[in-house]
Amino acid sequence: MTHSANAAKHLPAGHERLAGKSLFLFDIDGTLALDTTLFTGTRELLDWLEVTGRTAVFITNNSTKSRRSYVEKFARWGFSYGEERFITSTYVTAEYLQQHHAGELVFLLGTESLKTELQNAGIRITEDPKDPATVALVGYDSELTYQKTRDICDLLTRHPETTYLATHPDICCPAIFDGVPGMVPDCGAICQMLWCALRRYPKYIGKPDPAMADISMRLFGKTKEETIVVGDRLETDIACGVNAGVDTAVVFTGSAHPEDIADSPVKPTWGFADIEAFRQALMGEE
Ligand SMILES: [Mg+2]
Repeated sequence: MTHSANAAKHLPAGHERLAGKSLFLFDIDGTLALDTTLFTGTRELLDWLEVTGRTAVFITNNSTKSRRSYVEKFARWGFSYGEERFITSTYVTAEYLQQHHAGELVFLLGTESLKTELQNAGIRITEDPKDPATVALVGYDSELTYQKTRDICDLLTRHPETTYLATHPDICCPAIFDGVPGMVPDCGAICQMLWCALRRYPKYIGKPDPAMADISMRLFGKTKEETIVVGDRLETDIACGVNAGVDTAVVFTGSAHPEDIADSPVKPTWGFADIEAFRQALMGEE
């Protein structure tokens, strides 16, 4: 008997389909951990997935950290995942550009590190609005200047046919000010500001676009039926899974609360109090 069949035998009613999952796409913050602290159940869950031949992949809209820095973050928790397990919005944007805009010149509003990462992935980048770019891309830009915002308006006004993309739609990003937690504007907020001038929004590549899930399934050779997205945010994590046509599980340890589901247009397949409850349902311990 396979491990899947074994697990199915013990799964509570309603969770049978979980047993057939072999590709687990996890959001990180608010789902598996908060900052540097792993939630109860995360370690046992991730260890079990590896031991049983299932695959955990981590999907994050955070474009400020490289895949290598995620490898190191997980190594500090004692996990030895390679870079291929981390699908960031920067990585998925490079993949998207290669698939849909191969060889095209891309005008970038973003940080130097984003520029380097995209160039390393073989993307041709310019920051001069007079160059013949056919794609304009906005990333989270902690080095934003007024000149950069003027330059992208210049390009998109003179060439409205330019494809307009952004790495991810998040409007704010956690920050700590002398120990006091708060927020700073993220990529989506920069796009909101540009909307005021351009009256145009970009296509966002990160969650909730299905690209992150689609690329993960292609990379790991898994079907929609074999795949599940697990996250704490209905409008990004769960919507990404729904848009990709895969099952989803929301955990209530971050953004979403149980009472949000009734009013949300985005409906998860399952809801769990926390990742430990998800682990118990998956492993048939309920
Ligand atoms: Mg999250």
